[in-house]
Amino acid sequence: MKKPKHMHKYERGKLGDSYEIYRCVLTECTHYIPLSLADGKLSLCWGNCGNAVMLDKQMINQAKTKRPICDSCKEIKRKQREFLLSIPNEEQNAKIN
Ligand SMILES: [Zn+2]
Ligand SMILES: [Zn+2]
Repeated sequence: MKKPKHMHKYERGKLGDSYEIYRCVLTECTHYIPLSLADGKLSLCWGNCGNAVMLDKQMINQAKTKRPICDSCKEIKRKQREFLLSIPNEEQNAKIN
C-alpha cells in the first residue's frame, strides 16, 4: 500500500459537467475523490490552524462548503464577518450606547 506523503487539502470541484468531486489543491498532487466517497476523509483545514478537518455528510450535502474548515477557524471567520458587518452600523451602535 502506498501512503500519501501529505494530508490532502480538498476543494470541491467538478469533473465534466455534473460529476462533483473533492480534489486536492496541493502542488503536484492530482488526487481527487467523488463526493460519495468523501464522508469521513480528512482534509487540511483552509483556515490558518494547520489542523485536519473531517469531511462529514453535512458538509458534503452543503454545496456551498467548497473549502472545508475546522470549527475553530469557522468561529474566527464568523467573528471577522461580524466585525466587518458591524462597521456600517457604527452610527446606529453609537446611538444605542
Ligand atoms: Zn494531495
Ligand atoms: Zn482550522
